[in-house]
Amino acid sequence: MSSDDLPHDGTAGPPGAGLPALRGHNAALLLGLLRTAGGAGVSRRELADRTGLTPQAVSKITARLRADGLAAEAGRRASTGGKPATVLRLVPDARHAVGLHLDRDELTAVLADLTGAAVAVRRAPLDFAAGAGQVLATAGREVAALRAQAGGPPVLGAGVACPGPLDHTTGVLHRVTGAPRWDGFPLREALAERLGLPVVLDKDTNAAALGLAQGIPSGAGSFGYLHLGTGLGAGLVLDGGLYRGPRTGAGEFGHQTVQWDGPRCGCGRRGCIEALCLAAVADGDLPRAARALGVGAANLVELLDIDRVLLGGRTVLAHPDGFRIGVAEALAAQARARGRTPVPVELARGGARVVADGAAELVLAPLFGRRPGALTPP
Ligand SMILES: [Zn+2]
Repeated sequence: MSSDDLPHDGTAGPPGAGLPALRGHNAALLLGLLRTAGGAGVSRRELADRTGLTPQAVSKITARLRADGLAAEAGRRASTGGKPATVLRLVPDARHAVGLHLDRDELTAVLADLTGAAVAVRRAPLDFAAGAGQVLATAGREVAALRAQAGGPPVLGAGVACPGPLDHTTGVLHRVTGAPRWDGFPLREALAERLGLPVVLDKDTNAAALGLAQGIPSGAGSFGYLHLGTGLGAGLVLDGGLYRGPRTGAGEFGHQTVQWDGPRCGCGRRGCIEALCLAAVADGDLPRAARALGVGAANLVELLDIDRVLLGGRTVLAHPDGFRIGVAEALAAQARARGRTPVPVELARGGARVVADGAAELVLAPLFGRRPGALTPP
């Protein structure tokens, strides 16, 4: 291993295995700048200026990236006082990554290029609570079909997102609400064997938040992504990094108790915000569901002083305006009481694919120098 290899602590995953150019930290920094620059590209001098690397080091690394097909020349650009500078760009189709969203009743699989854009998408029915056999078989079949459909470049790995709680570091599921038979199951290992690919496993909410954080400069910006589908959870991006907590259990937003003698929740406790929200949805009382979600959002803002709240998940997407307006009203009432500007709330980009796209980002982010677990202690 060379001195600039990524630290391997389980948070970054093994997606660069067998691809030496992808493994260096400095190579990842340069790839990250190439990704951000898009089709316009960036010159070697700019790469050196922005990373603090010597021009010699940049030349050496970019030669390796070009040899691996990851970067290509994209013309010349006039530079101040010298000969025109050669511009380099990322080659998006040099590699692909699989993003897999295992929802409670549906599987969504995407094949993403190096920019994170989906080049192929598949959906299939799934019964997550039924356990491993059916989930592994469906995932294996759909990923094989996806790869056959897209053909082409090597696949770096699969990012897999499913309902939590789970241990991101070991890839083992915990007691998933409504699906107790998964408790203790090593899903990452089982999927890696089935798919024949390196696998990174995370909660659906974390994968979505990681995808949504792409494009935000590292170290800047905090938001909470609230996902209301068949359950309710949150992905937290704090100071530009996804926050998982020391046991990777952060974001169990839906199981905060807001009514101690309230209705029984699927987790076994009472008055969780998820139970209140889902009960209102089941009653067809949208304003009450949105209000419950808004109360939770206001609690989150109170606790973490985040900049934005983003909403997603199937139940939100079925009534996007109702939920957005309901949560905005709760945040406005909070801001009035505190004498400050309300925290903005928006629908998360990506629609129904926000989790699957984010799952692919679990594999892609470390290649570009973005540690998905930036705030998780090493
Ligand atoms: Zn609960």
